[in-house]
Formats: sequence, C-alpha cells, structure tokens
Amino acid sequence: MIEKTKLIPDGKKELKKLPIVDYTDSKYLYYPVTSSRCSDGETCVIGGQFVKVGEVIGTRKGAFFEQPMHATVSGEVMGNEKHVDQSGKLVDCLIVKNDFKYELHESIKDRTEEEINALTKEDFVNIVKETSLVGLGGSAFPTYIKLSTEDQIDVVMANGVECEPNLISDYALMMTNPKAVIEGLIYAMKASGAKKGIIAIKKKYKAIEERLAFDLKEYSNYDIKIVKVGNYYPQGWELLAIKNALGIKIPQGELLSKYGVLNFNVSTLASIFAAVKHRLPVLERYISLSGDGIKNQKFRARIGTLMTELIENVGGYKDIDIPKVLILGGPMMGVNVSQDDIVMTHTTTSLIVQNQEELFEEPCIHCASCVYSCPVEIQPVQIMNAYKIRDKDMIKNLEVNKCIECGLCSYVCPSKIHLTETMRKAKRFASK
Ligand code: SF4
Ligand code: SF4
Repeated sequence: MIEKTKLIPDGKKELKKLPIVDYTDSKYLYYPVTSSRCSDGETCVIGGQFVKVGEVIGTRKGAFFEQPMHATVSGEVMGNEKHVDQSGKLVDCLIVKNDFKYELHESIKDRTEEEINALTKEDFVNIVKETSLVGLGGSAFPTYIKLSTEDQIDVVMANGVECEPNLISDYALMMTNPKAVIEGLIYAMKASGAKKGIIAIKKKYKAIEERLAFDLKEYSNYDIKIVKVGNYYPQGWELLAIKNALGIKIPQGELLSKYGVLNFNVSTLASIFAAVKHRLPVLERYISLSGDGIKNQKFRARIGTLMTELIENVGGYKDIDIPKVLILGGPMMGVNVSQDDIVMTHTTTSLIVQNQEELFEEPCIHCASCVYSCPVEIQPVQIMNAYKIRDKDMIKNLEVNKCIECGLCSYVCPSKIHLTETMRKAKRFASK
C-alpha cells in the first residue's frame, strides 16, 4: 500500500470559533537571554533597576548578528531564573516585575506620515534591526537580513497560509488587524523597492479574504492582490507557497531574492508595521492551547508570559491521571517538551497538550508512503537505514539537508516510526 498524503486534519475549526482571551497582565515577565539562533547573550540592567516598555534590557548574540532584548512591561528588574524557551531548552531568563503602569520608554513614539515617507531603505533596515524583528512564522531568522538584500525585488509575498495544524496565531491576527499586515507589506515593498505585493492565504479562508479585501480598498494606489492557495500541507512552506501563489519555481537552497521575491510571514509584516509606525518591538502575540488534555483556548498574551499561567487560566490539565504529551508549536513541526515551565517568546504561538496514547513503533513494512509523501522528494526510509548504521556518506548522498522537518513522513508511516526525529538526528550527525 502506497499512501501519498497532503491532506491532513488541520484541527483549527473549533479553535477559530473561540473568543480571544486577553492575558497581558502577568505579574512577572521572563526574558530568555539566549535563543535558538543566539547561543550567547548578556543583560545590561541590574536588580532593582526600573525599566519601561520597549527599553533595551540586554543583547542576544548570534554567530553573525546581535539582537537587543526589550522589556514588554514597565517595572522592576528582579534577577534571573531558568525556564524553558521555544526550543525546549532550559535557559537563563531575566525577570521583570510588572508595575501594571505600562509606561513607554522615551524612544517609543509614533512616526508621522512625513517621517515615514522620508525613510530610506537603510532606515527601514535599521529600524527592523534595532527592534530585533525576526521571522514570526517560526524561523526566527533576523528580518533585517532579508530586507537588506541588494537584489532587485519585484514582489513581496505576505505569507498567511499557516498550514501547520492547530496553529491559529496568523489567522487571529488577520481577522483582528488586517491593516497592520497590509501596512507592514507596504513598508516591506517600499524598503525593497518592490512594485507588487501579494497576500497568500488558504482557499478555505473565506472570512479572511473578505476582511483583507475590505481593508485593501483603502490602499488602491498600491498593486497588492490576495492569492488563494490550496488547503494542503505543507502549502505554507515558502518555496511551495511562492510556486503556487506566484508561479515561480525556486530550487531549494537558492535565495528567493535572486528570483526577485521576498517572503514574510503575515505576523512578521505586522511587526514591521509596529516598528516603523510606533517604534515598538514585538510586545504580544496570539497563542493557543489545544489538544484533548486541556480546555482549548486562544489568548492574546505578552512576550515573557509563563505558559503555566495560561494553563492555570483554563483550569489546568484535564484527566490528570493520564500522562500528557506536550508539544510546543504544531503537531507536525513542533518540539516535544518535558515540562510546561515555558516562557512565551516571539515565536511561541501554540502549546498542544495530548493525553498520552500507547503508541509502539512497528518494523518498517517497506510501503514507501514516506517517500511518496515527502514534499522535497528525499527518501526518509533510506536515510533512517543509513543513520542506523551511521553511514555519513550515504546520509549526505541521500540529501538529508533538504529535509524541511515538515513531519509528513512520520504522520503517514503505518508503522508509527518517528522518521522526522530521525531526519533531525541524521542531519546533525552528517554535519559533524
Ligand atoms: S520531515 Fe523531512 S523527510 Fe520527512 S516528509 Fe518532511 S521533508 Fe520529507
Ligand atoms: S518507514 Fe514507514 S512509511 Fe516509510 S516505508 Fe517504512 S513503513 Fe512505510
């Protein structure tokens, strides 16, 4: 039996209907000093110091870039504690005690339209760099690096496909604040010199299409179109989204800018809008709790909030006698975490809590479903076999680096083999 799967249950129907609960008043906020892309970092404030919203409280340091850390409340610096970050690791976090006044730092003030119209490409890049904007679709790639391309850009794509099941953050943003996405797209077009913009959404997102189309009427002097792509997985993967929304086929590993394209997640564009218009870093995001082990709920929560507070807010876990599986992110690409002491960072948009099922891996039955389902056309089963015998050359020849960790091979495998996890391990092994 060969099964090729692109249609997977998206688990969003009920989540979409839920009201958004505001949870922006935590007493303590926690700011990881490092991140998945910045293995080093330091703070520039001391215990007892008073900080304001948007104030720089430290710097995260990556291999080739640095990112300022910003306070998302005003209040007193309390010290440091370890909590789990988006990558599932226990990391050092700076604590700020909220004074509930939300006093803005002196640097946070709106730009006038005249000031915005006078911004150069270099200005846009610097604004995005200083506000530490990163890819909010999950990549956490520094946005300023994308924007600073010297290539000629013809079109900027706002990626609102959000194909990963259970994720609802971009959907909630586009429903509640489509203008921020449109304005952010216009700023990205101005910064890159692109004449065209498109907003890619799923075909079935009729309500979003209506909301965006309504607000786009105000911006008729810009060439911006809504393009609908299929309801498949992983349609939101940028190369697939660009191919289906723009008809441009970009080979894996090549820069999009070489093909005249820039792609930004819709939440990233909204963050560009806030940074340019209001001089604000990312202060909050939409986040959901879902799964059969917890009451499902959507929140608007502040960066730095502890996930344990959100869990408590919905009444804790259901069926407490049943062990839980916690997944940070979506069920296909998310990270399994062993504790819920998680800090909400820029890219935290979902925690899935599942009642644990006894699922045992069976031997491979050579059905080839994993091979036929893989969107980047590699052979997960062969890579797994090469990894078992630690054959580095074979793993490289099988192009494990093309794997986008979409999770489809594991999903489709009738033997319940954790292929995606093996792909991750094989990639790490081959790169040593
Ligand atoms: S996780 Fe990697 S190997 Fe598996 S289907 Fe996705 S891209 Fe292919
Ligand atoms: S690993 Fe799973 S999906 Fe792939 S061939 Fe074996 S049984 Fe089939």
